[in-house]
Amino acid sequence: MDEHGMRRCIVHKRKGGALSAKEWEAVIEAFMSGDVDEAQMAALCMACVWRGMSFDEAYALTGAMVASGQTIAFDPARGIVVDKHSSGGVSDIVSLAAVPLAAACGARVAKLSGRALGHTGGTIDKLETIPGFDAELSTEAFVEQVERVGCAIAAQTQALVPADKRIYHLRDRTATVPQMGLIASSIVSKKIAGGAHAFVFDVKTGAASFMSDRNDARELAQWLVEIAQRFGRRATAFVTDMNQPLGRCIGTGIEVIEAREFLRGHGDERAKELVLAIAGALVAESGLEEPQELVQAALSSGRAYGKICEMISAQHGDVAAFEAMKLGPPFEILAAESGYVQSIDVVRLGHAGRALSQNDSLGGLQIAVRIGDHVDSGTQLARAYGSARKEALPLAQAFTISSQPVQAPPLFYDMIGGNTRGTSFH
Ligand code: URA
Repeated sequence: MDEHGMRRCIVHKRKGGALSAKEWEAVIEAFMSGDVDEAQMAALCMACVWRGMSFDEAYALTGAMVASGQTIAFDPARGIVVDKHSSGGVSDIVSLAAVPLAAACGARVAKLSGRALGHTGGTIDKLETIPGFDAELSTEAFVEQVERVGCAIAAQTQALVPADKRIYHLRDRTATVPQMGLIASSIVSKKIAGGAHAFVFDVKTGAASFMSDRNDARELAQWLVEIAQRFGRRATAFVTDMNQPLGRCIGTGIEVIEAREFLRGHGDERAKELVLAIAGALVAESGLEEPQELVQAALSSGRAYGKICEMISAQHGDVAAFEAMKLGPPFEILAAESGYVQSIDVVRLGHAGRALSQNDSLGGLQIAVRIGDHVDSGTQLARAYGSARKEALPLAQAFTISSQPVQAPPLFYDMIGGNTRGTSFH
């Protein structure tokens, strides 16, 4: 496709038309080869934002993006390989905990992860606080580790879906991220290229998610599952709350400590509910019977903890250093008034947690309260850690206190698709 062909596609889309699968393939090929420039691609993305995309277009774009780079293949004869994806959370230890937990049940989990984006944390940044941990695995090393250990968490390589990397950057600069088809194709293309046969998606909704509207989040979850299924993959999606931090800790190393303690049996209840549900869904998607019983047994027996140590060691991490990771002295953030926690500014806390861990891998926040909790003036709202901890004092303003009792938001809103018999979802 040359610039004239691309112009015709932009006009067609601007008028509300749908591009064919062949046109989407040609658009992506031309963009990657340089025949179409960023200005035209941005105009097409903006036309999609204004005019929408059909499901068929999203499916076609997903395929075109997958074809822009290499793909990983796992031999299905050796068993189902599963992967999970979260649309971006704060205090989200689910990948760190659910991947080894599912692997300890016999699932084979090949998790490709991103780095931190905006106020949300990145699993790779967290794991890299373990001395020696190598997240930049070659495809061969990634596949070999999944076969041998049962799980690996690695950074998405540049070679997989290079079109998404460039287009996502362009969408970020041109305010064209929020479009269902563009988001779904971006997410699913990376999962398909990662080679797993089944996926579990965790779509966040609420003030700190990019799908703040619950119905939009549900629709996205449906699109993710249906696009994956059309590629012959199995998929489950949960729609979960992001109006408050999922767990207790926000940062990088501090979240590794939280995940470690979770796997040792000392988990925060809210985070635990989601970790068990996602791990259960990964196990169920792997075709194993009684997933929730398997997950509970793997956690309480210590096998899940053993599995994360095995994974860290396989990726050259220092397990003794992981076991010794410890927080420094805290700075306490106190409530200025008594009442009920009405809301929590999770975006602000997410940015603060990232800032505190920037120059100090064990810096971050530990949140002491949840929405609906009663606090007295002078009681702890949060603790800050790290060399810049005293700068966290203004964060008390991230907690809105009401004199009236407040209803806590639920954790789960929806579940779509899947073979999740026996998971804890309700
Ligand atoms: N996450 C992605 O990977 N892609 C999007 O488009 C939005 C969120």
